[in-house]
Amino acid sequence: MKRRVSIFGATGSIGCNTVDLIQRAPDDYDVVALSGGRNVQKLAEQARALRPEIAVTAYEDCLAPLREALAGSGIEVAAGETALRDMAERPADWIMSAIVGAAGLSPGLKALEQGTTLALANKESLVTAGALLKSTAAASGATILPVDSEHSAVFQALAGEKLSAVERVIITASGGAFRDWPIGNLANATLAEASSHPNWEMGQRITIDSATMFNKALELIETHEFFDIAPDKIEALVHPESLVHALVGYRDGALMTHVGPHDMRHAIGYALHWPIRAHLPVERLDLAEIGQLTFQKPDEARYPALAQARWVMEEGGLAGAVFNGAKERALDGFISGQIGFLDMAAVVADVIEIMSGEGLGLAAITLETVKDADHSARARADEAITRRQR
Ligand code: NAD
Ligand code: MG
Repeated sequence: MKRRVSIFGATGSIGCNTVDLIQRAPDDYDVVALSGGRNVQKLAEQARALRPEIAVTAYEDCLAPLREALAGSGIEVAAGETALRDMAERPADWIMSAIVGAAGLSPGLKALEQGTTLALANKESLVTAGALLKSTAAASGATILPVDSEHSAVFQALAGEKLSAVERVIITASGGAFRDWPIGNLANATLAEASSHPNWEMGQRITIDSATMFNKALELIETHEFFDIAPDKIEALVHPESLVHALVGYRDGALMTHVGPHDMRHAIGYALHWPIRAHLPVERLDLAEIGQLTFQKPDEARYPALAQARWVMEEGGLAGAVFNGAKERALDGFISGQIGFLDMAAVVADVIEIMSGEGLGLAAITLETVKDADHSARARADEAITRRQR
């Protein structure tokens, strides 16, 4: 029987890799729905190739061009936030959540309410509303599978083991674009420099988040939320070759690790075929050729985001929504040239300082409280950006 699949964020980096895997076995899947943003031509091209029931753009002003691009195809079109939520209600066996940012939360939640299997690339939804995602999945019987490469690696290294035997979880980090830069040069790092990853290509936002290590900060929180591991058992480790994705340390001293090429089709394919290990079109590593793998302790002065992640995990509640909202605005501020590279972490620190006295850890987590916390954090970040504007 064909599996019914939908892809949120189909036109992005994760989305395109997911489409690639599905296109290799077209007879195995019925594609129900695809979503994208402003890249209407790409979405239309994917829709013509995969023949979903519906293609949805996140933006109302992109509806007319999408309709035109799909004219005569018989594929429905829709636009906007409500259309994205409606798309999540269409019955599917497997849904990829690969929208970037907090915008991925609401459609992801709707998908979980349907009891589907959700492949979660959108780490921001776990960071902002982990408890809500997990309780929604528990209530409907839905399964959440990790797609972030480190979390897929942890998931695989945990298979068949008891969580109670876990002593520590180590997720690796490439170190991003400025790993080898003198710290004194970071203040003047340009957008183009921050947008180029040393090891692979991803969406621009996550690439800049790799340079600041905001991405790793989100991933520490994601590890805590996804696997229910205590914050003091979770570490980040710089590993410039990016081939060891994560390690799980057990109480007998063993470290179980996952080593694989840096190709997101591995983690996506693992989630697509889970619990089966299917053949995947990824490179087979030649370790003799690679020769050596190196590791370094991350420099917390260079990457203040890591300490901020520890604050989020200790505080709990709405702290993740505040951290992520402030981070997203700080990133917008850097991308638009309002603030410099180091100002991003400083803006987030300002927001944390202002909001940390507001009882975030005690607040109930609902879609509304998360949206409110996200909104307030963005407003505070805007004020901090104005103060720091150059
Ligand atoms: P991307 O920027 O390449 O693509 C994002 C997708 O989301 C696009 O389809 C875009 O049209 C859509 N989108 C953007 N803003 C939207 C909005 N407001 N509402 C609805 N849709 C919107 O991003 P990406 O690199 O593919 O990352 C997607 C998610 O996967 C992120 O959460 C990222 O952290 C995570 N992730 C990515 C990688 C990677 O290798 N790229 C690895 C691990 C995790
Ligand atoms: Mg990752």
